[in-house]
Amino acid sequence: DIYMDRQNSLGRDYSQKADRERHAAALARVDAEKLTSGPLIGGKLRAGTNPQAVTNPFDTSRVLGHVFETTAADLDAAIDAAARAQVAWDRKGGAGRGPVLRAMADALEADLDRLVALLSREAGKTLNDGVAEVREAADFCRYYAMLAERDFGGPQTLKGPVGEINQLVLHGRGVFACISPWNFPLAIFTGQIAAALAAGNAVLAKPAEQTPLIAAEAVRLYYRAGLDPDLLALVPGRGETVGAKLVAHPRIDGVAFTGGTDTATAINRSLAARPGPIIPFIAETGGLNGMFVDTTALKEQVIDDVILSAFGSSGQRCSALRLLYVPHDAADALIEGLKGALAAQVVGDPSDPSTDIGPVIDADAKAMLEAHLKRLESDARIIARAALPAGADKGHLFAPTIAEVPTPDYLEREVFGPILHVCRYEPSRLRETASKLAARGYGLTLGVHSRIEAFAEEVARLVPAGNVYINRSIIGAVVGVQPFGGEGLSGTGPKAGGPWSLIRYASEKAISNNI
Ligand code: GLU
Repeated sequence: DIYMDRQNSLGRDYSQKADRERHAAALARVDAEKLTSGPLIGGKLRAGTNPQAVTNPFDTSRVLGHVFETTAADLDAAIDAAARAQVAWDRKGGAGRGPVLRAMADALEADLDRLVALLSREAGKTLNDGVAEVREAADFCRYYAMLAERDFGGPQTLKGPVGEINQLVLHGRGVFACISPWNFPLAIFTGQIAAALAAGNAVLAKPAEQTPLIAAEAVRLYYRAGLDPDLLALVPGRGETVGAKLVAHPRIDGVAFTGGTDTATAINRSLAARPGPIIPFIAETGGLNGMFVDTTALKEQVIDDVILSAFGSSGQRCSALRLLYVPHDAADALIEGLKGALAAQVVGDPSDPSTDIGPVIDADAKAMLEAHLKRLESDARIIARAALPAGADKGHLFAPTIAEVPTPDYLEREVFGPILHVCRYEPSRLRETASKLAARGYGLTLGVHSRIEAFAEEVARLVPAGNVYINRSIIGAVVGVQPFGGEGLSGTGPKAGGPWSLIRYASEKAISNNI
């Protein structure tokens, strides 16, 4: 069975001395290196323009390396090389492409310690988040290799009239632009590229401005895994400059984007204004994710799952919990429990094995959260804030916060970071409460905690969501296990890491031969 005979990637255990020592050594190496990122085209780093220092979000005085921005001439060169190489790559079929993606998965795992060190330094990821990310990146590569072999293995013969042969073939579209976020600078970056490649495309990949170093590492690993360098170019730079030029380029054949809903809308507009063919746009965007608890839920389990869902990865996941709905009768006890659990979270240096919650990504993110906190202080009730360590000001630590809000639709839009909003509701008014959340138009993750199946079913009927989680946390979708992605304002689909992930990266050709 192609779905069941597969294994997800394995990790590390930082409670073990050997794993901790390997981590410390990798960290020291990354710190000593001073990495460079920039336009990587045909396997070579080009000069680019406008060099910027890349710093550690936990301690902004520490410079990790530099990034050079892609020029318009670099983009043209990358597209020329990619378009030329794509033809042969597409012809290889899934059986020819799968082994390269599997070699990439192996290369990622072989470099796990280094990648985790870099993820903590550049993106502020805790060690467990870093390991999960490397594993997810490897999982995407293996899973899409399997899909390529399943669906791009040659023509499928269809039933038709006698005397005629009818076949359907999937093939690549050409050159895909993959635009990825800083919150999963390795997993989503690698996964988008793997999907586009698996379907027979070449790729120009634009990483987030905040995380170009890990992206350059990933591209070099693809080359090391045996990918023809012309098939994959790294084109770092700002969204307003490089991103805008990339999506407006007349020779791009599709765009895969993960990031904010507003940026997705802007890209969609830009694509609509392009002369020439209409190309696919795959967008995976924000969420306004709720969890509904009823009085039958197990309190301890709710508390664990809420803390992880709201504050894991510093709340910087599009799947993260933003709004917790608790029934009046259970609210005080749950809130007390959450307070205690938040106080036990260790906020600090993400590269330290004992840290639970690291910094937010940059000064803008922190300023946005501080402005939101001001609003909460004036028209909501702050329940608890986690303690920050001494010296927190050297970077972008933001104290994780729980606030009680007065109305079910208090949040109009996603607030990306470690702030959990709790809302009390009257069980007899569940429908009205849930409908207010639904009316905001998002549809990414949804949580339910209850021992009554009908309750979970009703909530899932009332609130749109691409991923529904019952009696567990709502983050950390696993490739091939929980295909991930939303609807409405949360994205276009197809889901990442699911059986239909590749379809919009491909074109279909039907061939009828009247023998
Ligand atoms: N797939 C991730 C999860 O399930 C979230 C991805 C994102 O934040 O973009 O938590």
